[in-house]
Amino acid sequence: MSDELRILLADRVVDGRGGQPISRGYVAIQGERILEVGPAEAATEERFPPEIPREDFGDCTIMPGLVDGHVHLTFSAGPVPFEDIQKDSDSAQLLRAAANARAALQAGVTTLRDLGSRGHVVYELRDAIAKGIVPGPRIMSSGAPITCTGGHLHFLGGIAEGEDGVQAMAETRVEEGADVIKVIATGGNMTTTSDPLKAQFTVPEMKRAVDVANANGLKVTVHARGVEGIRAAVRAGVHGVEHSRMEVPPGKWEFDDELAKEMADRGVHAAPTFAASYRAFQCQAAGAKVGLRKGAIPIDIRQKNARRLREAGVKVIAGTDAGASMARFEEAMNNEMECLVGAGWSHQEALEAATYGSAEALGREKEIGSLEAGKLADLVVVRGDPTRDIAEARQVERVYLGGKLAVRRGQAAFDARPDPWPADEIATRASLLAEFERT
Ligand SMILES: [Zn+2]
Repeated sequence: MSDELRILLADRVVDGRGGQPISRGYVAIQGERILEVGPAEAATEERFPPEIPREDFGDCTIMPGLVDGHVHLTFSAGPVPFEDIQKDSDSAQLLRAAANARAALQAGVTTLRDLGSRGHVVYELRDAIAKGIVPGPRIMSSGAPITCTGGHLHFLGGIAEGEDGVQAMAETRVEEGADVIKVIATGGNMTTTSDPLKAQFTVPEMKRAVDVANANGLKVTVHARGVEGIRAAVRAGVHGVEHSRMEVPPGKWEFDDELAKEMADRGVHAAPTFAASYRAFQCQAAGAKVGLRKGAIPIDIRQKNARRLREAGVKVIAGTDAGASMARFEEAMNNEMECLVGAGWSHQEALEAATYGSAEALGREKEIGSLEAGKLADLVVVRGDPTRDIAEARQVERVYLGGKLAVRRGQAAFDARPDPWPADEIATRASLLAEFERT
């Protein structure tokens, strides 16, 4: 990695941590990290001589790279993704995942957390991206989520029963190289054999997964829609609740203030995952067949739910469930942030939920999620001002990943592959060439 110094300037710089946007600001990047952030007048030629490359984007905003806390890279985002995933071979899934990762990067996502895939597919993509073989965001992967027989996402292979079974499955994930443990705490939309309103595991069962994760420095996040499952997960000590939809039998929204307070007290993050169904509802309204169950809770109620969670003190973050029905990686984070604004977040707060907020939920806030000296230079340049209109975050001009230009005018750049050839391969090639020359 070169230590080359570079200066980026724009009419606005947003730090991702709630600071007032800097009007006419700069970000100095050295190698893969941020060296400084400040007002443009401080980036004098005395401090940064003319030979140091500087690029001025004018009426643009420099902001932290987006962090999507919840995706499924191997899912098709088609009308009925769970059919596709059960038909796909592992290699077909890997190709899908690579294409989805690239699409997310082009939309300004520099880190994403995959919360459910089969076998080793997403671990392999994660490692391939890190090696520079294909372009994509930084990836954290749960591998196969831990679920019960016939449970939500059981076809991904993480079936476990009883306390010992759950513990063993969590240990297997750790051995495989998972970055997070995902447990399915209630049923979901993708099987007819699971019930979103019922808990799939008991508190002691889920606690075993939490213990394994804690012992290995990982976090546990759960899929949970119904109150019963959310409560069990929270009492088991999980760190995050995906969806967190507060549903009760026979299938209606009933916000539980006490449970929300308990989540807040324990510092549990919640990701409302609006983007999971946002387009699906639109398509359904237009008469298309999509993977939405009858009686699915509409977006406006989900927004009310997210607002209540926040009012109770729960940290609400951006996770999209991209890959789910009609939730495309090209736009999922934009839909998520726009739905947060619709739920009462300010434009800037929505941006924070999608950067520092989600970085914190992933346990990566020391390295990513905000523009601060010393952090990884993962940043996005967008035209316009997303702190006034979050929709302008769709206008991606550039994406930098670890200081390297990864996306130029919406297209993945060659440098999107962090190190086009791994150093040891370059050495091998050099020695082969030298041998050719001798003979
Ligand atoms: Zn999901």
